[in-house]
Amino acid sequence: LSSRLPNVGTTIFTVMSALATEHKAVNLGQGFPDFACDPKLVDAVTAAMQAGHNQYPPMAGVPALRQAVSAKIAGLHGKAYHPDTEITITAGATQAILTALLAVVHPGDEVIVLEPCYDSYVPNIELAGGVVVRVPLTPGTFRPDFAKIGAAITPKTRALLINSPHNPSATVWSRADMLALQDLLAPTNVLLISDEVYEHMVFDGQAHESASRFPGLAARAFVVSSFGKTFHVTGWKVGTVAAPAALMAEFRKVHQFNVFTVNTPVQHALAAYLAHPAPYLELPAFYQHKRDLFRAGLAGTRFKLLPSQGSYFQCVDISDVSDLNEADFCQWLTREVGVAAIPLSAFYGNGFDQRVVRFCFAKQDSTLQSALERLKTL
Ligand code: PMP
Ligand code: GLN
Repeated sequence: LSSRLPNVGTTIFTVMSALATEHKAVNLGQGFPDFACDPKLVDAVTAAMQAGHNQYPPMAGVPALRQAVSAKIAGLHGKAYHPDTEITITAGATQAILTALLAVVHPGDEVIVLEPCYDSYVPNIELAGGVVVRVPLTPGTFRPDFAKIGAAITPKTRALLINSPHNPSATVWSRADMLALQDLLAPTNVLLISDEVYEHMVFDGQAHESASRFPGLAARAFVVSSFGKTFHVTGWKVGTVAAPAALMAEFRKVHQFNVFTVNTPVQHALAAYLAHPAPYLELPAFYQHKRDLFRAGLAGTRFKLLPSQGSYFQCVDISDVSDLNEADFCQWLTREVGVAAIPLSAFYGNGFDQRVVRFCFAKQDSTLQSALERLKTL
């Protein structure tokens, strides 16, 4: 069989979670919370099912949810997306990104990714028939290098994928970064896919600079988010995409023949939940506490902490702890120390090894404490 994705195996998240289970390790690898969501949200799903919301919703999503998402973006970022034509509910951010790429990329078009990047981007571009152009984020700091991004843009560039707050590096793009990007793209026809799934996890008083805040970016952007991250329900797989009507019309052509539409009762529940006083506003403080607890625990160890400005990830340099490469270190740490982590090399096409691994701190404080007890032995 001739594979469409010859270089793809099983994702690192699946591999490390399986290894964590096998070795009864504390799983700080795959990014997901180990605590419950708000019980009100679960009640809202039951209520939606009991109210009979169990058949296909409209293709683009339940209107009340699209209206709630539109109001949320307008309130936070001052950009009005029309709920009928500019917001679509997706089966998570993953489907939103793949669908956006399938909708706009013609075979042979170039799509720029900034490495390290989330592991679905490159295979998604390949499935869309695009040519992957990898531009490195600045080594060490993971900041965008706009000269390098500019140099990678050619007449064949169809789209650029960005992600802030960033998985895996936990960096956050500033207003100045977004303005620089806006200037860079102004003379081009390059489309933007802005993966903002960690939009509500930004620390130390910094703001999330959504692409929707910048008219020159919003006019060319698919802005993607995910309720899985925001409401601690990664398994529900419901996300959103916002884009100008012309782009959204193309998106929906693919969406209707891809998933057609998304889980009805969960959409009703999310719409009802979003009507409460914005539950996501508590997230920065909630996660900043966990970040600080985890960082304080590692402070006296030989792990060197990188900054964590946003997302629910903390990266550490392991070079004073071990001579192993990142991937082997993560295997060893899971088997022998009982803590699972993700090697950053998994987010690079060439397996680049910089002796940095990623821990997820979206865990109960007690889970973080047990991981820290084990990590402190190193
Ligand atoms: N993008 C990034 C950067 C992510 O970290 C994740 C979740 N791991 C996704 C997209 C996928 O989100 P979803 O589960 O909603 O498909
Ligand atoms: N996004 C999550 C992470 O980065 C994992 C999602 C997945 O398992 N595909 O850990």
